[in-house]
Amino acid sequence: MELNEDKSNTDFRQLLSRYEEFVIKDIYPLEMEAIYGSFKGALPKLNALREKAKKEGLFAPHLSRSEGGMGLSLQEFGRISEILGKSPLGHYVFNCQAPDIGNMELMHQFASKELKEKYLSPLQKGEIRSCFAMTEPENAGSNPVHLSTTAVRVGDEYIINGHKWFTSSADGAAFTIVMAVTDPEHPNPYQRASMILVPLDNPGYQFVRNIPIMGDVGEDYMSHAEVKFVNCSVPASNLIGESGQGFALAQERLGPGRIHHCMRWIGICERAIELMCKRALTRMLDPGRPLSQQQTIQNWIAESVASVKASRLMVLATAKKIDEEGAKAAKEDISTIKFFVSDVLMKTLDRAIQVHGALGITDDTLLSFWYRHERGARIYDGPDEVHKTVLAKRVLKQYATK
Ligand SMILES: Cc1cc2nc3c(=O)[nH]c(=O)nc-3n(C[C@H](O)[C@H](O)[C@H](O)COP(=O)(O)OP(=O)(O)OC[C@H]3O[C@@H](n4cnc5c(N)ncnc54)[C@H](O)[C@@H]3O)c2cc1C
Repeated sequence: MELNEDKSNTDFRQLLSRYEEFVIKDIYPLEMEAIYGSFKGALPKLNALREKAKKEGLFAPHLSRSEGGMGLSLQEFGRISEILGKSPLGHYVFNCQAPDIGNMELMHQFASKELKEKYLSPLQKGEIRSCFAMTEPENAGSNPVHLSTTAVRVGDEYIINGHKWFTSSADGAAFTIVMAVTDPEHPNPYQRASMILVPLDNPGYQFVRNIPIMGDVGEDYMSHAEVKFVNCSVPASNLIGESGQGFALAQERLGPGRIHHCMRWIGICERAIELMCKRALTRMLDPGRPLSQQQTIQNWIAESVASVKASRLMVLATAKKIDEEGAKAAKEDISTIKFFVSDVLMKTLDRAIQVHGALGITDDTLLSFWYRHERGARIYDGPDEVHKTVLAKRVLKQYATK
């Protein structure tokens, strides 16, 4: 899919090449240390790469020009996201990692001038990190209208009480955006909750733990926390958007967010295919008879490449629709790419692991990291089953008799 015309298209391709070169030359060498060693320990080196990205004008590409970014369309950012996704550190180095990117987009649109100056500006510069606390252990995250966390307005403050988990990257973050019930009696359940910014040095905020994910507890940016809010008092002006707008804002946040995730997953698939092919070509069943000569292996490579190609076209077409008509018009398309590409990701990773044999399940390649951490792709941002229902209902409607 061509994104731009003539000269600007050439410029964009050159930009993609610059990202690719940076990721391969500068980020790949740091992966094993940061991913299987200590992420925190690797922070000085990661920060040096962030500085390099700034100097080269590649930092925070998703931002508008006035905010120091590139003013890209969602389609264009998607193409960059694919390249960054080839490394688990790619998005982090360029400060366009989830959940910060979603918070930046949300605050850019809906936060007050004061909140933007105090929190959004340093977030965009990569000086602080943030997180997003919606899901609760006691309630089904698939249907988040049922939240137990409350924010009660008392004078000029909100008093927040609640228990959240899977607050990704809370460890070391400067603030979170909390989804809390502000109007429990509202007749429309989608207008009962609001989004409120909470600085994490607040005495009413409690960091409980980083939740181990299939044996990996993680740390700093690479973690998912359980947290509590106990009589946590924040100024009422920390409200983002209007009271009761929480779900509407969450939808705004998730539409482009699914494009980002899907393109990142496509990048992971490409790296997995690269690892799969290199291994297949060098692993000898007999002298001179590499694994790559086996038809089953060839099938896996072909199926992976074809499904990644289909995914890319589908996601970029959805991004184009969001760019041109808005996220609401692309609702079913967004649901479709979410479950389709997460499935392609799972299958591609599984095939790549199988080709590597025992090596595939060790921590000597990145495959085990992705297998462990990207299993969540079928669960977060709405479980696949919920998205399939969205699409199926739309299709069924076309055939329903009146
Ligand atoms: C890696 C990861 C990172 C995350 N990061 C964040 C974060 O930063 N902030 C945050 O707030 N949350 C985060 N989450 C939480 C995530 O949003 C929830 O896990 C998700 O919404 C599902 O909620 P649940 O886990 O409570 O599953 P449940 O709602 O209990 O659902 C369990 C299962 O039931 C099935 N199911 C549910 N609904 C339906 C349906 N309508 N039809 C058919 N089947 C259905 C699905 O198979 C689903 O997986 C993260 C989760 C993961 C795994």
